[in-house]
Amino acid sequence: MRVLNEWGVGEAVEGHSHGDSDSGMPLLIDGEKRQWKRGEDDVDGAFCPQQVLVRNLIRVFLRDGGDLRFEARDLSLHDIGTEQPLVRYREADGSTRTVTCDFVAGADGYRGVSRTAIPEDVLTCFTHEFGYAWLTVLTEAPADPLAVLAVHARGFAAQITRGPHASRLYLQCPLTDTVEQWPDERVWTELEARFGTPVDPQGPITNKQVVPLRGVVFSPMGFGRLYLLGDAAHLISPMSAQGMSLALHDADVLARGVVQHVEKNDSSLLDGYSDTCLNHTWERQASAVWMTQTMHDSGDPGYEGEFRKQIARKNLETMLEPSAAPHSTS
Ligand SMILES: Cc1cc2nc3c(=O)[nH]c(=O)nc-3n(C[C@H](O)[C@H](O)[C@H](O)COP(=O)(O)OP(=O)(O)OC[C@H]3O[C@@H](n4cnc5c(N)ncnc54)[C@H](O)[C@@H]3O)c2cc1C
Repeated sequence: MRVLNEWGVGEAVEGHSHGDSDSGMPLLIDGEKRQWKRGEDDVDGAFCPQQVLVRNLIRVFLRDGGDLRFEARDLSLHDIGTEQPLVRYREADGSTRTVTCDFVAGADGYRGVSRTAIPEDVLTCFTHEFGYAWLTVLTEAPADPLAVLAVHARGFAAQITRGPHASRLYLQCPLTDTVEQWPDERVWTELEARFGTPVDPQGPITNKQVVPLRGVVFSPMGFGRLYLLGDAAHLISPMSAQGMSLALHDADVLARGVVQHVEKNDSSLLDGYSDTCLNHTWERQASAVWMTQTMHDSGDPGYEGEFRKQIARKNLETMLEPSAAPHSTS
């Protein structure tokens, strides 16, 4: 929100519910409803589905005269180690176009081509696998409240809004699970079991995916005049719900660096781009790993065992308002 407002594009999330999102989001532990503690550093936020934010930002960009080219195919980067890198692509009609650039922002996601333009011996990939996955499900059923998380012996579960008519369901599952093992009926039954309560309304399911939980960081976050942003440079556990914010952070740092370079002929911000963003990313990765382990180890002991479950539950309690129910010591 802060970054969008500072760049004058806060209107892209207008109409989406603001406020302290975390403390308003119930957590169900073995079916018992708990509330997050309100932190001193809680800031204004908004529940805005990512596709809505992207659509609104595109609208603002085009309205303000931005040049955005859709349907670019066979994209490739050249001469990124020089002062005039080139981006080549094919238009929808098959003709080839070349754009001569001062800088290239490689913001084409984890499977994009930007990162592959960097010589292999320059990049180091650091990765952490959590050992489980999420079945992520898109359904045409609204979430009410906007987000519910659940910790349960059968595994983690969540339902998060994706606008007034849709939501995403998340169910922790083994890495080896396939979408075929999760017919629609099983999804709803399992969600209700982990929530410990009926889920209403239920709606048609339009997409299912199995996403392994992991953290990935590529270093350095660029080479020559190419800068890597967002998922092209790092993946963060979706438990942290930080991937989009990290991408926006990178864009903010790069944009400030380019403006300073162009307006003041000062490249210090650009020179520090990779270090600044890596520092921020590692900070967020650290809290994402802690949060992911705490939420998952607290539930199904099948992965890390009962000892870690008890530790994770104690860690979880430090973030919650006291329970109204008497505590079991088993
Ligand atoms: C299950 C799950 C849940 C998540 N939940 C959240 C959440 O709640 N909050 C949050 O902040 N983040 C969340 N994330 C992470 C978030 O979605 C990503 O971190 C974010 O989309 C990264 O943005 P990006 O712009 O770097 O990449 P992307 O969103 O992947 O965008 C890359 C773009 O580049 C385009 N592209 C790729 N290759 C090419 C090419 N060769 N030519 C032209 N175009 C190309 C793609 O079409 C795409 O439009 C979640 C991720 C997952 C998997």
